[in-house]
Amino acid sequence: MNMRFDLLTIFPEIFGSYLKESIINRAVKDKKLKIAVHDIRKFSSDRHHKVDAPPYGGGPGMVMAPQPVYDCIKYVKKHNKGPVIYLSPGGNIFTRTKAEKLYKKWRKKGLILLCGRYEGIDQRVIDLAVDEEISIGKYVLTGGELPAMVILDAVCRYIPGVLGDEQSIKEESFSRALKGKKEYPHYTRPETFKGLKVPEVLLSGHHANIKKWREQHLK
Ligand code: SAH
Repeated sequence: MNMRFDLLTIFPEIFGSYLKESIINRAVKDKKLKIAVHDIRKFSSDRHHKVDAPPYGGGPGMVMAPQPVYDCIKYVKKHNKGPVIYLSPGGNIFTRTKAEKLYKKWRKKGLILLCGRYEGIDQRVIDLAVDEEISIGKYVLTGGELPAMVILDAVCRYIPGVLGDEQSIKEESFSRALKGKKEYPHYTRPETFKGLKVPEVLLSGHHANIKKWREQHLK
């Protein structure tokens, strides 16, 4: 069983290197994760494959035209029965809880992540074909590709076997196990670095004391 992500973009190349490294690359190779990137431009019925036009009513910038985006979504929906999520600065703010919920609810069907560019996408596509709008924070980026990767990355950590140790997702920042707090500090070799020592208790091998120390050092 793998979880499927379909990414819809006019800049498909952006995803290349990030998805080909480390944990995500291994998850794809192990068939725990399936990622398909779709070039919205290919769906444009315009002779020059145009995907944008100036806004009705005037104003700065360009708007992504409805036809190519709508047809791309229609095509992707044949392969992915999950919700269409439009990445948008004004959407519901993405959190750890939301990441886990998206995994639990959609792990079988998958997620369709729609990336905007320019001033955004024609509202009619959102009205007709988008199930939810999600924002990764209250700032504006040049496109939805980074937000889509943020969501993919955060959600895929919950697929069993994607992380080396299942415990990592149970006890992590903002998790219930850590009472919603930020995780305790981590240390590794050497014992002394630039005069700073690793807290003695972590070298003691005394599990109960280590647990207590970590609980006391949640932020
Ligand atoms: N004119 C829009 C901004 C468009 S930014 C406004 O003022 O709200 C272009 C695209 O980048 C958006 O369509 C969206 O897909 C993406 N984007 C920008 N910031 C984002 C954020 N914080 N979260 C999610 N997507 C974002």
